[in-house]
Amino acid sequence: MPNLPPHTQVVVIGAGQAGLSVAYFLQRFQLEAGVDFVVLDRGPTTGGAWQHRWDALTLGSAHRVADLPGMSELGLSFATADHHRPAKQVVEEYYRAYEEHYGLRVFRPVEVMSVFNRGADLVVNARVPDEHDPDYREEIVTRLLVNATGTWRTPFVPYVPGIRDFTGIQISTNGYRSAEQFRGMSVVVVGGGTSAIGFLLELEGVASRLSWATRRPVRYTDDEALSLEGGVRAVAEQDAAARAGKPLPSIVQGTGVAKTRRIAAGIERGLLVERPMFTRIEPDGVRWPDGSFTQADAIIWATGFRPELRHLAPLRLHNIGGGVTVENGAVAADPRIFLAGYGPQASTIGASRAGRTVARQVVAAL
Ligand SMILES: Cc1cc2nc3c(=O)[nH]c(=O)nc-3n(C[C@H](O)[C@H](O)[C@H](O)COP(=O)(O)OP(=O)(O)OC[C@H]3O[C@@H](n4cnc5c(N)ncnc54)[C@H](O)[C@@H]3O)c2cc1C
Repeated sequence: MPNLPPHTQVVVIGAGQAGLSVAYFLQRFQLEAGVDFVVLDRGPTTGGAWQHRWDALTLGSAHRVADLPGMSELGLSFATADHHRPAKQVVEEYYRAYEEHYGLRVFRPVEVMSVFNRGADLVVNARVPDEHDPDYREEIVTRLLVNATGTWRTPFVPYVPGIRDFTGIQISTNGYRSAEQFRGMSVVVVGGGTSAIGFLLELEGVASRLSWATRRPVRYTDDEALSLEGGVRAVAEQDAAARAGKPLPSIVQGTGVAKTRRIAAGIERGLLVERPMFTRIEPDGVRWPDGSFTQADAIIWATGFRPELRHLAPLRLHNIGGGVTVENGAVAADPRIFLAGYGPQASTIGASRAGRTVARQVVAAL
């Protein structure tokens, strides 16, 4: 990989749906990739967070994956891709073709460790592993920064008394590889969204016992896919929280879960029956509100994610309420910083649209 350029106008952190979409529009607005703007990604390959998802998550079992802007020029669309293939493979391939076609020159694997102020500029400190030094660092000085880092490495796990004493396996959604990991085990799945439901469907017949806990009763919608009305409400709730600088609410609370045929059948045969959240974790299982106990070998926390912003800590963007005040991707506390794919933009369609909105503001700020 060539060395990082020491100076640029704009650094984009992340080459997922949001970062690529921003890069596409920056180029359309006449900025040169690798010179005027530089895209950095810590992943070993293309695909954003999708490259890390489990094989059984096919394009058909995911929610709709929206196309990147300008993808039709390559003759590609997720809508017409083979829905039986693992989503990770298809997204990896399509993003690779897209990056190459538009010459977006993503630098990878490059992990941004911190961003700090140096006078009017921003300094991006990045880990650029090479064969001699896995912790080799380089710096890029930039005027503006677009953070498009998603949420994959920052799953949220609610605190439950006893959680640290559990002796079995505990993983979050991002640690799930395949049902085989749990063969013959008694598994408790926690969470009220499609990931939790997907895990239960996959583990049926593989785990020796399955229990499902949710904080609230699951609100099913009768749509076969994510309902438009629910989607609009969830986006509005995310937007209101981002504008007010509050921590972002759960998306699934706003959208509900679409009752696909597969899910309806799972409810019908008694697999998808949720229980109210357990009140205590004991070393070998969970204790339910009615006092009953379930022995467990594993707990899977499918309880959502938080935005990954740790590397921006030196910029002090968080307010007292714990959130970052963001309007249309622009951070109120610092006009040089933009968050793409944050809050209301945190879906593939939202991230695609964010590209134009954020790139336009970036160009205006240069
Ligand atoms: C299990 C699951 C299923 C989902 N299914 C759907 C779906 O079907 N449809 C849908 O619309 N949405 C879905 N989503 C939401 C999905 O995450 C978004 O839609 C979208 O893929 C997010 O794009 P993004 O670019 O914001 O983030 P990501 O795809 O996470 O991309 C962020 C990129 O930033 C890089 N990065 C992060 N930190 C750093 C750093 N410090 N330095 C350098 N690089 C960094 C990462 O390597 C990654 O490539 C799903 C989410 C999950 C968790």
